[in-house]
Amino acid sequence: MYYTTWGPVRGGCGHVHRTLSGAQACLARDGRGCRRQGGYSDRLIRAIANPAEARAYDVTRGPGQPAKAVRLERVVMATEALTDALMARLIRS
Ligand SMILES: [Zn+2]
Repeated sequence: MYYTTWGPVRGGCGHVHRTLSGAQACLARDGRGCRRQGGYSDRLIRAIANPAEARAYDVTRGPGQPAKAVRLERVVMATEALTDALMARLIRS
């Protein structure tokens, strides 16, 4: 999993970030740069499956998927794993 940043108006940063915190730092830098010029950045973090997606993507939909959806998916998966473990314990006892 890689990350990049993109907004429908501002476009993408074109970077391939290996960590979520790296993408967050890039987003913060872009926000500061835009504010200095009296504007704001509409970029958000996007999760991409491979580095090429940071540069080649549908310009209206953006690269990959919103990182928020990825985080939510992980929470659901973790919850399911926990439920499975609890059920297995209940069945054994
Ligand atoms: Zn970036």
